[in-house]
Amino acid sequence: MNPIIGVIGLGNMGRNMAATLVGKGFSVIGFDLSDTARQQAEKQGIVPANHLDDIARQCSVVILSLPKAEHVEAVCLGDNGLIKQLTSGTIVIDTTTSIPEMSRKIANAFAPQGIEFIDAPVSGGPAGAAAGTMSMVIGGKLDTYHLVLPILEAMSSVRVHVGDVGAGNIAKIANNMLAAAHLITTSEALTLAEKAGVDPSKVLEAINAGSGRSGASQAMFPTWVMNKAYDSGFTMGLMRKDVGLAKALAQNLELNLPMTMKTAELWQQSAAVLPDSDDFCCIAQCTNPSLFA
Ligand code: NAD
Repeated sequence: MNPIIGVIGLGNMGRNMAATLVGKGFSVIGFDLSDTARQQAEKQGIVPANHLDDIARQCSVVILSLPKAEHVEAVCLGDNGLIKQLTSGTIVIDTTTSIPEMSRKIANAFAPQGIEFIDAPVSGGPAGAAAGTMSMVIGGKLDTYHLVLPILEAMSSVRVHVGDVGAGNIAKIANNMLAAAHLITTSEALTLAEKAGVDPSKVLEAINAGSGRSGASQAMFPTWVMNKAYDSGFTMGLMRKDVGLAKALAQNLELNLPMTMKTAELWQQSAAVLPDSDDFCCIAQCTNPSLFA
C-alpha cells in the first residue's frame, strides 16, 4: 500500500509536485503557512492540512518545498518541528534549494530518532513540477533513496544520486550558478549582436545551433525573455539566494572562482532595480533595458 505523503510548502513548486503525485494515484496532504497557498492547493486536488502536526501524524514520507534553508530548519528542528513529531521510519525528502551544511545538520539530528533525511533539490520550474518531468539531484543514503524511488520517479524524468546528505544541494548550487551566469552572458552576447546591427533573434537561433548554447539560450530566452513574458514562476529573490549560496560555498572552501564571484555581485547589484518578487529572467533587463524590458 502506498504511504500517505505529506508536502510542506505549497508554493509554485510544492503545489505542482503534490498535484502530480495526486494525479498518479498517491494520497497526499499538504501544509503551508499561507491560507492562499492552501486554498490554491485544494483546487488542485490536494487535501490541505491545518497544522504541521496533521502531516506528522498521518505521513510516513514528508516532502519539503520551502524557500530557504532557514525555513527548512524551522520546520524540521524548530520548537514544534518535525523532529518532535515524526515517528521512527519516516523519510523526509527536502526538495528546497538549501545549504548543504543545513542538510547534514538536520540528517544528524533526525538520525537518533530513526528519521531519515535526503536532500533532493529540483530543476524544471513549476511547469516541470506539474508535468512530473523535473530533474532531481539526490544526496543521502542509497537505501533510503531506493525506498522513495517510486515517489521520486513520479515527480521527475531524471534523477542523479550524487553522494551523501548535502551532495544534492552542492550539485544544485553548482547548476544554478551556471544558469545565473548564462542568463547574463546570453544577454551580453545578444546585446553585442544588436548594437553591431544584427537581429538578436537571428543570433539566438545561431547560438542555439552553435557551441555557445545553454539552458538560458535554449529555454529561458525563447520562452520568457525575447517575448518579454517574464512569468517562469521562479523569482529574482530565489535566484539571488542560490548565487549567494554558490559564493558562500566558494568562500568557505577558500576557492578562487572569479566568475562565480562576479555572477553573485551582478545578481546582488540588480536588487537596486529589480525587486525579489520579479521573475528571475528580468536580469536580462540590467544588461539591455531597451531590448529586454
Ligand atoms: P515559493 O515561495 O513559491 O513557495 C514556498 C512556499 O513555502 C510558500 O507558499 C510559503 O508560504 C511556504 N512556507 C514558507 N515557510 C513555511 C513554513 N514554515 N511552513 C509551511 N510553509 C512555509 O517558492 P518555490 O518557487 O515553490 O520554490 C521552493 C523551493 O524550490 C526554493 O528553494 C527554490 O529555490 C526551489 N526551486 C524553485 C524553482 C522554481 O522555478 N520556482 C525551480 C527549482 C527549484
